Amino acid sequence: MFSYRHAFHAGNHADVLKHTVLIATLDHLLEKDAALTVVDTHAGAGLYRLDGDYAGTSGEAADGILRLFPESNAAAAGTPPLADALARYLEVVRDFNPKGGARIYPGSPFITHHLLRDHDKLKLFELHPTDARTLDANIAQLEAGRQIAVLREDGFGSATKFLPPPSRRALVLCDPSYEIKSDYARVLEFVTGALKRFATGTYAVWYPIIPRPEAHDLPRRLKTLATKSGKPWLNATLTVKSSKIVTDTSGAKHRPGLPASGMFLINPPHTLKARLQAALPQMAERLAQDRNAAFSLDSGGA
Ligand code: SAM
Repeated sequence: MFSYRHAFHAGNHADVLKHTVLIATLDHLLEKDAALTVVDTHAGAGLYRLDGDYAGTSGEAADGILRLFPESNAAAAGTPPLADALARYLEVVRDFNPKGGARIYPGSPFITHHLLRDHDKLKLFELHPTDARTLDANIAQLEAGRQIAVLREDGFGSATKFLPPPSRRALVLCDPSYEIKSDYARVLEFVTGALKRFATGTYAVWYPIIPRPEAHDLPRRLKTLATKSGKPWLNATLTVKSSKIVTDTSGAKHRPGLPASGMFLINPPHTLKARLQAALPQMAERLAQDRNAAFSLDSGGA
């Protein structure tokens, strides 16, 4: 059984990148009246307490979203205002924290539902029994009825059954934990199959940037897939620190934790690149953990 629990990582730098891109993408797709279906292949628990046991153990939000809150960032005085896409991300998180601060962190299911209209649909896949139970309970509180479906199924295996949706408008978020090496190949296989069924959907894949051949290859393979399929693509990455193993004075070696991640989109909204162009330099600057902090933004295709 999996050991990855997103609650340990909620609100970290990878979530800042992923959820900023998710919100900017949804904002664009929701400008049209026609119904949108969002398929979240790896949903997690949905909602997290940043002051809870899990998040408190690793404190990853402290080096993530909390650095964007002016009240928790001493250096913020005199810094330029946040770019639109980042300000919008904070606005959405603030909606879940009406008393201020960021005690509650919304995962992708809650961010998405918060933005969807009544006639849009949300399909959530979560396989971990504990997270699936928590997700079920969290979603039940929304009383959203048939608008949201929670499925305890393999997101890679069965999410394509919702494609194409009746309105022929969908965003598919594919955000695995990559704790199994085969996840990298399964992502590629999943997106390849989904594109065959529904070529005009928007696909957003989150991936870790770590020194491992499969991780290195995934964005390159997604780019090849998009190019061969004649589809536009966009790849945004955020690095917050070096990936080098550090040796301390006692000679003990320490892995640095996740140093960087990326979001690869096929059929991205045409407005996304400009919004990220303004937001990514600020993410790299505010979330930097050492001098290796950086970002990249590439796009191509039709
Ligand atoms: N998308 C969430 C968010 O942004 O808030 C975070 C998801 S977390 C990175 C990945 C989740 O996928 C974990 O909760 C894990 O239990 C779940 N998972 C792992 N393999 C899965 C599979 N084959 N199908 C569905 N869920 C899976």
